[in-house]
Amino acid sequence: MSSARVPFSRAEIIAVGTELLTAFRTDTNSLFLTARLNELGIEVRRKSIVGDDAADLAPAIRDALERADLLVVCGGLGPTEDDRTRETVAEVLGLGLTEDRAIVERLRERFAARGWTMPENNRRQGMVPDGAVVLDNARGTAPGLLLETGGRVVVLLPGPPRELEPMFTAVAQARLSKHTAPDRLYRRILRVAGRGESHVEELAQPVYERWRRATQPVATTVLASPGLVELHLSTRSADPDTATVALDGATGELAAVLGEHLFSTDGRSLSEVVGQMLRDGGFRVAVGESCTGGLVTAQFVDVPGSSSYVETGVVAYSNEVKQAVLGVDPGLIESAGAVSEAVAVAMAEGAQRVGVVEIGIGVTGVAGPGGGSEEKPVGTVCFGVVGPGTEREARTVRFPGDRAMIRRQAARTALDLLRRVLQRRMRERATIRGSGS
Ligand code: ATP
Repeated sequence: MSSARVPFSRAEIIAVGTELLTAFRTDTNSLFLTARLNELGIEVRRKSIVGDDAADLAPAIRDALERADLLVVCGGLGPTEDDRTRETVAEVLGLGLTEDRAIVERLRERFAARGWTMPENNRRQGMVPDGAVVLDNARGTAPGLLLETGGRVVVLLPGPPRELEPMFTAVAQARLSKHTAPDRLYRRILRVAGRGESHVEELAQPVYERWRRATQPVATTVLASPGLVELHLSTRSADPDTATVALDGATGELAAVLGEHLFSTDGRSLSEVVGQMLRDGGFRVAVGESCTGGLVTAQFVDVPGSSSYVETGVVAYSNEVKQAVLGVDPGLIESAGAVSEAVAVAMAEGAQRVGVVEIGIGVTGVAGPGGGSEEKPVGTVCFGVVGPGTEREARTVRFPGDRAMIRRQAARTALDLLRRVLQRRMRERATIRGSGS
C-alpha cells in the first residue's frame, strides 16, 4: 500500500451482475459503499453496473482505472463459470493467478462443518492474483481481494450485502483510512412537509446559494418524494467543530425561511417527530380512515414504542362502517357527501370515541382512478383532527398522481396536520406561560 497515492482523490464503484441489469434486482451495494467512503472523506465520482460478461467487464475496469485511484468492484466472485471478476481484473492488470491452498482448505472445512463435500468449482475462489491481499469472508465462501497497482488500489468484494458489508467495513478501517485526507464530509438532513419541491426551492434557494459561496461552504441537494421534501446539507472539513458551526448556521437560516413546514433537522421521520410530540404531551390517538385503508395507522406504528400513544385504527371504507362503527350520521353523509370535511371530522370524533382517547383523526377521499366528480375530482382528500381538548382542524387537499401516490401523500398529510395542531398548541401554551411569568 505504501506506493499508493495519498490521499485518494477519486473513487469509482463497479457493481457486477447480470441480474442487476434486470428490473428485478437493485444495486444497493454501491449505496452502502458510497456512504462508507464519504464518511472517510472519499468522494465517489462515478459508478457503473456491468453484467457477468468479461467482454463488458474488462473495458469497464480498464476505463475506471484511467480515472480513479480507488476502484471498488463488487459481485462476481462466486464459484460458477459466470463469476468472472477475479480473472478479468487479473487479466486487465496483467497479473497471474495462483491457487492459495490456505483458502481452499478453509473452504473445504466450511463445507465439511455442514457435512458436505466441497464442489470442485469452489476451488476457483482460492485463486489469488499475484500480490493481492486476501480479505476474510466470515459470512460466505468468496474471499475478497485487495490489489495495489501503479499507485491505485482495487478492492474486490463479494456481491451478497451481508458478506460485503462487514468485509468492507474492516478493510476501510484497516487499510483505506490511511489514504484519506484529514477532512471528512459532514451531513445534515432537513425534512419539510406540506410544501412542494418548487416552493421549498424558492424559499430555500437564496439561503443555500449564500452558503455555497461561504468561507466554509455548505452544499445542498434537494430530494422530493410524495408529500415530503428533503434538503441534504453537506460540508467538508478537517475540524468537526467548524463543520458543525457551518451546518448549524445554514440549518438555522433555512429553518427561519421554511417556518412551520420544516419538521425535522436531525434525521427523524415525520412518524417519529409526531410520536415524540404525542409522548411528550401524554396524548393517545385513534384513527378512522377510508381511502388510506390503514396507511395512516401503519405510519404511526412504524415507530418502535408507538403502543404508548396509538390506541386503534379503524378502516371505515364503506359508508355503512363509517356509520355503524364510527357513528357518522347518515344524514351528514347524504348532505355533505362521504368525501367532505364535515364527514372527516365526524370520523375523527368517532375514532376518538371508539378508542376513548384524547385525539381522533379522520381521513376520507377519492384515490381514483374512478369515483371523481367535477366538484370532488380524483385526488381530493379531506382530513379532520379533533383534540387534544378543544382543538378542531379540518382540511381539504387535492393531490396529484396515481392511486398509490395519492394514498401515500394523504397518509403523510394526516400526520402532518396533527403535527401542526400539536405544535400550535405547544406554542400557545408557551406564550401563555411566557406572559404569565
Ligand atoms: P456468491 O459466492 O454468493 O455467488 P458473488 O460475489 O459471486 O458471491 P454474485 O453472485 O454476484 O456474488 O451475487 C450474489 C447475490 O448478491 C445476488 O443474487 C444478489 O442478491 C446480491 N447482490 C450482488 N450484487 C449486488 C449489489 N450490487 N447490490 C445488492 N445486492 C447484490
